[in-house]
Amino acid sequence: MTTASRLDGQAQSFAEAALRLSGKSDEEARRTGAVDRADEQVESLFAPEYQTVSSPVHRAVWDRQVPVDLFAAPPLPKQAQCDRAMDRCLQIVRHHRLDNTLLDERGKLSAELLGELADAGYWGMLIDPRYGGQGAPFARFSRFLTRLAVFDPMTAGLASVHGCIGAVDPVRSFGNDAQKDRFLPRLASGAALSAFALTEPNAGSDLTALRTTAVPVGDDFEVTGEKLFITNAVPGRTIGLVVVLKGKPAVLIAELPCEQTEQFQIVPYGLHALRHTHNNGLRFKRFRVPQANLLTPQIGDGLTIAYHGLNLGRTALCANAAGTMRILLANMLPWAHFRKTYGQAIETRELVKRRIARLAALITGADALVGWTSWLIDQGYRGELECVIAKIFGSEALKEAAVELFMKTHGGRSFLHGHIFGDNLYDFLAPCIYEGEGEMLGLAFFKSLVKRHGLTYFQPIGQALERAQIRHFQPLNPRHAWALRRELGAYARWAMRQKLGGCSRPALPKIPTPLSEHLDFALTRFDGYAWEISSTMRKHQLRLADRQCRMAELSQRVQDTVTMLVTALWASQQDETVQAAADILCQDLRRKLTGERPADRYYRDCAALADRIIDGGFAAISDAPVAEILMRYGDASAGC
Ligand SMILES: Cc1cc2nc3c(=O)[nH]c(=O)nc-3n(C[C@H](O)[C@H](O)[C@H](O)COP(=O)(O)OP(=O)(O)OC[C@H]3O[C@@H](n4cnc5c(N)ncnc54)[C@H](O)[C@@H]3O)c2cc1C
Repeated sequence: MTTASRLDGQAQSFAEAALRLSGKSDEEARRTGAVDRADEQVESLFAPEYQTVSSPVHRAVWDRQVPVDLFAAPPLPKQAQCDRAMDRCLQIVRHHRLDNTLLDERGKLSAELLGELADAGYWGMLIDPRYGGQGAPFARFSRFLTRLAVFDPMTAGLASVHGCIGAVDPVRSFGNDAQKDRFLPRLASGAALSAFALTEPNAGSDLTALRTTAVPVGDDFEVTGEKLFITNAVPGRTIGLVVVLKGKPAVLIAELPCEQTEQFQIVPYGLHALRHTHNNGLRFKRFRVPQANLLTPQIGDGLTIAYHGLNLGRTALCANAAGTMRILLANMLPWAHFRKTYGQAIETRELVKRRIARLAALITGADALVGWTSWLIDQGYRGELECVIAKIFGSEALKEAAVELFMKTHGGRSFLHGHIFGDNLYDFLAPCIYEGEGEMLGLAFFKSLVKRHGLTYFQPIGQALERAQIRHFQPLNPRHAWALRRELGAYARWAMRQKLGGCSRPALPKIPTPLSEHLDFALTRFDGYAWEISSTMRKHQLRLADRQCRMAELSQRVQDTVTMLVTALWASQQDETVQAAADILCQDLRRKLTGERPADRYYRDCAALADRIIDGGFAAISDAPVAEILMRYGDASAGC
């Protein structure tokens, strides 16, 4: 089979061709190709200037000048129409939080809360006012999620499930006029709350293994199959349901009956994470969905629709993590002040100060990435690479904040019933898995980043090797060199430009030191990535797909450099405490990238930042409710 051959009526993608050439099984090549094609189809929905190759990260790596202005989101406009609804929603959740009435008797977010939020316009935040929504720009929405998560991360999470990955984005972006008229007003008013049902028992990371089928019967489809881990999926919800229709993934908007039937059943199980909302399996047996509910994208299929909403969901996840980490920091301070060991409050100890500083640094990094990625989305960018960075950073930061910083500082009390850590541990960890496990996403990031370079230089070489029937290329073999002369020449010209042309420095914005030094460091790192990535591709050639650890490692370094750049630029517009927190994060990332040991200055910087935060200088946590300290004890010397 040649690389130009067609499979299932569609051209082979770069990844598919490479896997075939490297001797992988037909099935693996075909499945990888399907995912790659879905990705290309999502790309083609965006204007060329907003596609991945024009994105800030792609350009920073492959162009010889980093587009610094695309890494700095401007401040949000002071006001927007959606602000009133947002303020009202914040009041509602804050009020229920302080009154301890967020949950019903089963420990789930109460129907009263969800209803009050509906009246305040919560569920329509991302929906156009023409359909009864608030029409919030995504940058405003994501900042709102952070503020809301400070009062309740689960309620904030549901806004993302509903608006980003649930039915709202698929209908808004891919529905026809009739579908929008039918579904969006109900989704905006909260009459219909939504979920997105993609994962199946045998299809999680591998979405090509979907088995739930839809078969046309009269005016309906009959759906048969099983979904797993679906958040917010209970009877009566309106869900984006991914099925296989005529051999291809498709998305149906399915209105679940209010009661279980023979055709539709909830599959319950115990789940540690998200226990304050519903997460269920769904079983369908010849379950009827009208054919009019099939979303038909102009290009692509159901995976195209699924991939579209995930980018919004990934930024929203980071926004939620930024709010949740505020809760952790706000609750670490009173405890560190209260708890004395060896006659001193632990807040005076260097170890604890470093944790306080690091937590503020993680919050600042998450805020910066949310501000940046959501601004790019509002600008019209696809944001594929950028949103993956936000998702991985947000979920890893939350995990570290909870386990390494919060739990260690709270000691044994962390594990008491009623303690923030013990009660929510799984919610702090699960974001590393849902909406794509972090390391798998890191690989996807790398593949997206190298795709164009591979298509331009390596695919033609692969095709020439195949034409000449050369299995193991030897550059010193004259027959091999002659067969590949044109393709190697093109690559050699790129390599010469890379080596001799150098990289030019853009005009940099004036930002305070030490942030300007971090900016400079990040830009210097970018100078070398194109060459390093290309050398890795050259070295491993068709075996690169198997070098997952190398790809993950390179991917992470690029991500860390981007995070540094974005955080330094974002913090330069903020107050001195945030700038100090950004400095700590950038120092941490810099050492991660260079392998250096921390200098004493770093520990002094951490202590200074912690003192500033202990003195009330970190405005980011001013709203966060503070829980009772558990197992308080009296001061023995005072005779209590
Ligand atoms: C709390 C929670 C809420 C969720 N909500 C939803 C929802 O609302 N809707 C929905 O559709 N889904 C939802 N999910 C499902 C979630 O998206 C999946 O769990 C996730 O995508 C991973 O799929 P999996 O669990 O099947 O992992 P698996 O596919 O079983 O993979 C397990 C691990 O194996 C490794 N792995 C897999 N393939 C490879 C490979 N090719 N190379 C190297 N390593 C590999 C990865 O580390 C991966 O994490 C939710 C999950 C959780 C835990």
